[in-house]
Amino acid sequence: GEFKDIEINTGDEIEELADVFNDMMHKKQEYLEGQERFVSDVSHELRTPLAVLDGHINLLLRWGKDDPKQLTESLEASRQEIKKMSNMIQDMLDIARLKHTDRSELEYISVACSMSDLVTNFRIVHPTFDIELENKLISPGKALIHKNHYDQAMTILLDNAVKYSGKIGNYIKVTLSEDDDMIITKVLDHGLGICKEDQAYIFERFFRADKARNREIGGTGLGLAIIKNIAQIYKGSISVESQVGKGAVFTFKIPKNKEKI
Ligand code: ADP
Repeated sequence: GEFKDIEINTGDEIEELADVFNDMMHKKQEYLEGQERFVSDVSHELRTPLAVLDGHINLLLRWGKDDPKQLTESLEASRQEIKKMSNMIQDMLDIARLKHTDRSELEYISVACSMSDLVTNFRIVHPTFDIELENKLISPGKALIHKNHYDQAMTILLDNAVKYSGKIGNYIKVTLSEDDDMIITKVLDHGLGICKEDQAYIFERFFRADKARNREIGGTGLGLAIIKNIAQIYKGSISVESQVGKGAVFTFKIPKNKEKI
């Protein structure tokens, strides 16, 4: 880097400072490249629903006035595409906002309290699902994370557990536990599962496993990317274990101690 070329004979501090500067420049560069990739991914992903929308508008122009069936069909389909785009934009805004997370006002939250509220709501919204909550925490289970981020991550996991249960299962189990450093939340389902090859990619934005299957199941491919971002902010982790046809278990970990962040 350019800073390395500066003659330094005033001691280690300046050399250290130069290193910090170089590091900052690299981070900035990486960030800009990341932004560029993000914008290009997004435009690509929005193009498909826009093309479908355009197709339906053409159908409407040609047949809509005389064919009431075509009219209803194309309007319904258009509305779906608009919903898709609006979900995508919402998810992308969420990802963008995560980058500006303020950690200065962080407080410990009780994951047991948060999860218990989420599960209560979940039962109301999905009465046909059997959801179990097991609390194996031995401490008060305090984790250093913004409550809305924990709730958002867990809502995505629970929604996915429902969506990808397909017709196979209706059982979901949430387990809270801990090790020395981490508060651990596991969300298990008995649904469609994810094949080994895809497991490595599902946390990348816009990746959706099994195209054929997913055509019927709505989604943006951004949910798990949002969780990955949240995990990164708090120096936590997200991982998956799964077998096709047997279901999936997602494990979300966040540090217990402030010093670890
Ligand atoms: P979306 O659900 O909007 O497609 P996500 O980022 O939340 O996006 O998930 C990415 C992909 O991972 C999904 O398209 C799906 O193929 C797979 N997936 C996520 N959760 C589950 C689950 N509980 N069971 C099976 N597959 C899942």
